[in-house]
Amino acid sequence: MSTNKVILVTGGTGLVGKAIEKVVQSEKRADETWIFISSKDADLWYSDCKIRKYIHAFPFFLVTMVQPKKIFEKHHPTHVIHLAAMVGGLFHNMGHNLDFLRKNIHINDNVLQISFETGIEKVVSCLSTCIFPDKTTYPIDETMVHNGPPHPSNFGYSYAKRLIDIQNKAYHQQHGSMFTSVVPCNVFGPYDNYNLESSHVVPGLIRKLHDIIKRDGDTFTVMGTGKPLRQFIYSLDLARLFLWVLREYDEVEPIILSVDEKSEVSIKKLAEEIAKAYDFKGEIVLDTTKADGQYKKTASNAKLRKYLPDFEFTPFATAIKESVEWYKANYNNARN
Ligand code: NAP
Ligand code: GDP
Repeated sequence: MSTNKVILVTGGTGLVGKAIEKVVQSEKRADETWIFISSKDADLWYSDCKIRKYIHAFPFFLVTMVQPKKIFEKHHPTHVIHLAAMVGGLFHNMGHNLDFLRKNIHINDNVLQISFETGIEKVVSCLSTCIFPDKTTYPIDETMVHNGPPHPSNFGYSYAKRLIDIQNKAYHQQHGSMFTSVVPCNVFGPYDNYNLESSHVVPGLIRKLHDIIKRDGDTFTVMGTGKPLRQFIYSLDLARLFLWVLREYDEVEPIILSVDEKSEVSIKKLAEEIAKAYDFKGEIVLDTTKADGQYKKTASNAKLRKYLPDFEFTPFATAIKESVEWYKANYNNARN
């Protein structure tokens, strides 16, 4: 075991990566060096058919540029936090199940196999509570990941993510590797994806209301019945938990990183909280012609609470307010 850790964060420029970067900067440790990479540093979706395409178009140049292994050889990481993924909300998933499946399978296989080949001590990858079985008992826990088919709206993303857990166990069984995973609930915060085509519900609704207010509109339309229930975690809370997992958690089995069950809220309540943060006095209208997705995914954080009984999550209203304030201040540079 090395004493000085070099931690490579794939997907380091996204919502979760930026939050980890902020927490790491606020409590620097002398024995840790952090490297945050994006797809511009290395396209981790690197498959044989893609290489063939590149060879055809750019015979000498891109073939070496895109090789994900080069980024590992450049930084010599000892640890990896693997966040890079094709990520999107309900509506993006519904239209792109094949892309979610293929891209994420390739990205994950590349990162895990390169981590193995380069002797990485520990990899922490990211699953999601939305990959759990659709027909299930509640609350859902870590033992139930593979218990039945996921919700049909996001089966591509779900099966690709579930395979990370399978691979972690296989690397451990065959090679003794310490590759593990975390299972966050719905994440939101600064540096989110606000593109209405692909965003999750929190950044989607923030963006929508922001634009409505800009054009003096008085009707905030929310997709679906507003009834589905979700657990939402503030990205900065998730980042603190990620650091704990990297430093302290030593099981291959996944661990759910979620707010408590009692903190679950409806989509309607979420819309009201965003409206409050914007001081919006207009009407909230539910467009019931749009999909609701899975009604709920209530996950138990009992395993996390066993390890960290006193962990305090940022109150939902505070986290939403901070996220709205960040968006207002960063509108021009945000991922719109
Ligand atoms: P995000 O904001 O969309 O960021 C995705 C990151 O992955 C970006 O840094 C992106 O780099 C990188 N990436 C995408 N395709 C890549 C590729 N082909 N090669 C290399 N890098 C690539 O996503 P996020 O919300 O932070 O998600 C981080 C992790 O948390 C993901 O594994 C996701 O599945 C998981 N998760 C998210 C949520 C949620 O609600 N957001 C919930 C549960 C789990 P570029 O910017 O350069 O494209
Ligand atoms: P999920 O939690 O994995 O289902 O993904 P999302 O973060 O996309 O949340 C989907 C839920 O929010 C569904 O019940 C949608 O009907 C509802 N919703 C309401 N308005 C929006 C919106 O503007 N964007 C998205 N992505 N979902 C919305």
